[in-house]
Amino acid sequence: MQTLSSYLSGQWQAGQGEGTALENAVNGEIVARCSTEGLDLGAAVRHAREVGGPALRKMTFTERATMLKGLSAAIHEIREELIEMGSRNGGNTRGDAKFDIDGATGTLAAYASFGKRLGDRPFLADGDGQQLGRTARFWGQHIRVPRRGVAVHINAFNFPAWGMMEKAACALLAGVPVIEKPGGATALIAWRVAQVVVESGLVPEGAFQFLCGSAGDLLSHLNGQDCVAFTGSAATGAKIRGDANLVRHNVRVNIEADSINAAVLAPDVATDAEAYGLFIGNVGLDMCQKAGQKCTAVRRIFVPADRVEEVKTDLIAELGRYPLGEPTEKTTRLGPVAHSGQHADVVAGIQRLSEIADVVHGGAESPRDGAFVSATLLVARDADANILHELEVFGPVATIVPYDGTATRAIELVNRGDGGLVVSVYSNDANWSEEFVLGVAPFHGRIWVGSDRMAEQALPPGMVLPNLVHGGPGRAGGGEELGALRGLDFYTQRTAIQGFKSFVDGTFGPETEGE
Ligand code: NAP
Repeated sequence: MQTLSSYLSGQWQAGQGEGTALENAVNGEIVARCSTEGLDLGAAVRHAREVGGPALRKMTFTERATMLKGLSAAIHEIREELIEMGSRNGGNTRGDAKFDIDGATGTLAAYASFGKRLGDRPFLADGDGQQLGRTARFWGQHIRVPRRGVAVHINAFNFPAWGMMEKAACALLAGVPVIEKPGGATALIAWRVAQVVVESGLVPEGAFQFLCGSAGDLLSHLNGQDCVAFTGSAATGAKIRGDANLVRHNVRVNIEADSINAAVLAPDVATDAEAYGLFIGNVGLDMCQKAGQKCTAVRRIFVPADRVEEVKTDLIAELGRYPLGEPTEKTTRLGPVAHSGQHADVVAGIQRLSEIADVVHGGAESPRDGAFVSATLLVARDADANILHELEVFGPVATIVPYDGTATRAIELVNRGDGGLVVSVYSNDANWSEEFVLGVAPFHGRIWVGSDRMAEQALPPGMVLPNLVHGGPGRAGGGEELGALRGLDFYTQRTAIQGFKSFVDGTFGPETEGE
């Protein structure tokens, strides 16, 4: 059995003791272990601040962008090996593993391209300058500079490659060194990606460290120049936000947590409309891709009450296009959930939902040995039942919720998720869509509007794109990541410079074309 080490303070180091077991979801076999017990995490934080940060800041934005491009290519080179690892640890089908790995390389490439345009100065001008005094002699300009600490990235188990590298891309481009901690249970892919990053020689020593196993006392070493970006459950997010040391030092914290995402069918969409086909296709994909273990996957499907029977029949037919099986089998489109603990949680979640909803497809019974769960569709008996809007069942599970077809009622029900990452709505009625979008926007990070006009070109709502923000308020964590160059904000300090115009504007003002 493999032992996965951490890369800290310039060397690969294994922790003591048993640590976390990494399972094969198909048969429960332990494929590897990782532990961080006994590792000196304070030294790793100092290494990042004293060695990695200065080296990274010596590079220009353009050089750091080139580094990201190189990392994207280096990871892509071992794509097949990573796909195999994803099925061995994590239960990924080939398609699911590609979604994670290509997400990582694609985001790195995207940030390489955003960074190319940032120029060679060691700071970024933030907006235009402003006259502050009676005349233009007294001038103000905001700039952004890389903070002098380390970015600690704590990730969930479901996207070991993408989750790690999308955060790393923003921090490294900004000029801030990272310590990456993947979810322990599926760390095999993340560990191999970390090996490639280190061995590539593209990233200066100390700028990329990798912690394989529990976070230990890492957070207790951080101070006001450091930051923590976390992705995972709301419960862990709350613990991290309340960490006494982080609170004491006002350490920047970004939380990406769970979300009871919604898809809404508006009453105007006829059965033969392209938007209807898009709706059925996207809901089926969201339920089965990554076995429903996507933070953006739809959990609640709002359907006008008089269309429920039709949608139920069509969704059940759609789910038939996702045969369940071993991840390595070519025909499989729905693999197991990531591990046995996750399986137990999903089964318990289906049982709880079935207290207020009828199971119309699949169910809590395991279809075969291993961490397999059938794609499970329910129909709510009562749209107002709290559990529908509160319980995230992190597997191939979603519930149809009838509503009266008005935008007002759809808004009220969707917003009961208490803050979400993404809501998708399907309508060809611009007035209905506008009312709905404005009604749910304060509670959601992203709104995906499906209509006949865009059906052919649409990327599905479950896909997080580097150029748009990812995150949501309230229960979803209150965080924000990505969004092209907005993703660098978290890692940089916005500072207002005031003084004589020719100095402030000449030195720190926006670069003009051709400079
Ligand atoms: P989790 O149990 O909350 O764990 C997330 C990460 O936090 C793991 O790396 C975990 O380490 C670490 N962790 C646990 N306790 C900690 C502590 N006290 N201090 C510091 N780190 C700690 O979540 P998960 O089960 O891996 O992920 C599933 C959840 O993530 C779902 O609810 C899903 O909705 C959410 N998610 C959200 C997003 C988003 O972008 N909003 C994306 C993906 C997933 P160990 O694994 O070593 O315990």
